[in-house]
Amino acid sequence: MKALEQKILNEGTVLGSDILKVGSFLNQQIDVDFLLDMCNEINRIYAGEEITKILTVEASGIAIAIAAAVVMHKNVIFAKKSKTSNVTGPVYGAKVHSFTHGTDNYITVPKDYINSNDKVLIIDDFLANGEALRGLIDIAEQAGAKIVGCTCAIEKGFQGGGDELRKKGYRIESLAIIDKMEPGNIEFRH
Ligand code: 5GP
Repeated sequence: MKALEQKILNEGTVLGSDILKVGSFLNQQIDVDFLLDMCNEINRIYAGEEITKILTVEASGIAIAIAAAVVMHKNVIFAKKSKTSNVTGPVYGAKVHSFTHGTDNYITVPKDYINSNDKVLIIDDFLANGEALRGLIDIAEQAGAKIVGCTCAIEKGFQGGGDELRKKGYRIESLAIIDKMEPGNIEFRH
């Protein structure tokens, strides 16, 4: 998505060798008009596909997943990263290593919210090593749901997670793919 590439060039900051900060429009302050542009693009990509639910993981995936869900008129489920007293009953779960926090989380979705009749679109903000997507795919597959595709706003292609999942046969459609980045220079895959 050309407009996203331009937005990343205008507002993104590369931290070290592998973190892109986009807090001005996606991760802390949210540019809602731009978020809707991204979600209209997601809707266009999956036009004609039957989707029953959108699945994401807290916290940074929730904004884009909800905006996409509003555009596509689907319910959205987010996997929780920690046990809370308001989650009761059986859950599907998967271990996910957090790229930005460096910690392991056991992400969970109650079994009541996803089942084998579901056709799921998985959405997240970033795709790096693919841990978050693998955990969400695992949960959807435990439920017997069909995975229609996975879309992240920004894929850091040089970290390889997206291509690994493509090789396994999953449909991975990122809105912008960065193949190389360093402070002051970001190169996109076309
Ligand atoms: P993965 O699980 O694919 O290794 O990493 C994806 C998750 O880590 C996303 O949910 C996102 O929250 C976070 N993440 C990975 N790389 C970046 C990055 O460069 N910038 C930001 N803001 N988040 C990232």
